[in-house]
Amino acid sequence: MTTASLPPHERARPLAKGRVKPARDLCSDCGLCDSRWVAYVRTACAFLNQQFERLEEKAHGRSRDLDNADELYFGVHQRMTTARLAAPIEGAQWTGIVSRLGVRALESGLVDAVLCVQQSPDDRFTPVPVLARTPEQVLAARVNKPTLSPNLQVLEQLPGSGIRRLLAIGVGCQIQALRAVQDTLPLDALYVLGLPCVDNVSRSGLQTFLESASRSPATVVHYEFMQDFRIHFRHSDGSAETVPFFALDTPKLKGVFAPSCLSCFDYTNAGADLVVGYMGASFGRQWLVVRNPKGQQLLDLVEAELDLAPVSSGGDRRAAVQQGIEAYDKAIRLPGWLAELVGVFVQRFGPKGLEYGRFSIDSHFTRNALWVRRHHPEIAEQHIPAFAKKIIGRYRLPAA
Ligand SMILES: Cc1cc2nc3c(=O)[nH]c(=O)nc-3n(C[C@H](O)[C@H](O)[C@H](O)COP(=O)(O)OP(=O)(O)OC[C@H]3O[C@@H](n4cnc5c(N)ncnc54)[C@H](O)[C@@H]3O)c2cc1C
Repeated sequence: MTTASLPPHERARPLAKGRVKPARDLCSDCGLCDSRWVAYVRTACAFLNQQFERLEEKAHGRSRDLDNADELYFGVHQRMTTARLAAPIEGAQWTGIVSRLGVRALESGLVDAVLCVQQSPDDRFTPVPVLARTPEQVLAARVNKPTLSPNLQVLEQLPGSGIRRLLAIGVGCQIQALRAVQDTLPLDALYVLGLPCVDNVSRSGLQTFLESASRSPATVVHYEFMQDFRIHFRHSDGSAETVPFFALDTPKLKGVFAPSCLSCFDYTNAGADLVVGYMGASFGRQWLVVRNPKGQQLLDLVEAELDLAPVSSGGDRRAAVQQGIEAYDKAIRLPGWLAELVGVFVQRFGPKGLEYGRFSIDSHFTRNALWVRRHHPEIAEQHIPAFAKKIIGRYRLPAA
């Protein structure tokens, strides 16, 4: 066989460190370009080529039904539920359903390895993607590293590894690129466990966020934006701190989120087989979206260990979203006492369950559409997917 007749990834080399990535300022550092599968970056990169319909058809056999209110928001699915692991995993982000599922996938022989993200020995928030071959390695990846993570760089380790069946855990941009190159990977089976994701940051952006939001940025070991409209921080001494969303220093934080995340419309991870997040569940529970039979196969691995409850929905998000659009655009920062008051009111009377999920999607899609129209008007029409355009069309947006 001549070199010219080899498939593109067998001729390509990972991009050299320090090279400008093809998506430039929009790069989410998903890791594809750090592998030989960079050969497909022009079509695979979520920020160079948004292709939700093709992605959904490939993964689930059909694209989402835009006239179905739940699919419009949450993507193709055959089941949604909420759950808690009956025996939560110490140190996990929520109750550890994702880690337990990774462990069971290995123990049951469903897969040979799990693509997940451990942390640097020097810094708890610096991600280190791995192909975990043992339950211990999967458990060592528990808890979010709330920074851009080059998960797909470990594809480079697949050839010659003996791994033929893989469970990949990842956020939307990573999964979009993975699905696009799936058929060229040296695998017999691929299972995808997706996490919802918004507002990710670089490591230095995370520092700015922590310093602006927490009373003790150096000791934060865990945080999450939760369904009670507060950010919950956990500190290394075990103490907890909560801050209302409305108390955030919006003017300071406007530049913190990665441009990739400000131009992302894949909040609920459209290409995954199974999604495990929290945004559509009541406070304290996890939210599970089974997109296809493979997703149910994954859920079967842990379902007997879950305390399940049906999804529910309450309140009306729309006025709060509209007010939020205007306040964000003017970069208004509320005084502390008013932020607390608004927080208590919204927590009591605001959207809950799936309606909280819709609130968060509406708020982020409107903000991101405006960001794309202002910063990258040349790609806006192609880049904003049809489902997002339909959602955004329900609100009054400031001029681009
Ligand atoms: C950056 C980020 C933002 C998120 N934003 C939301 C959100 O807005 N709404 C929502 O409902 N859910 C969000 N999630 C998902 C949610 O926070 C939990 O991760 C999910 O519910 C699983 O909880 P768990 O206890 O089962 O996870 P655990 O058992 O603790 O496992 C966590 C898993 O996350 C993976 N992981 C950690 N960091 C990263 C990373 N940077 N990139 C890719 N994978 C990673 C690890 O490999 C590990 O397998 C987000 C997750 C991440 C990583």
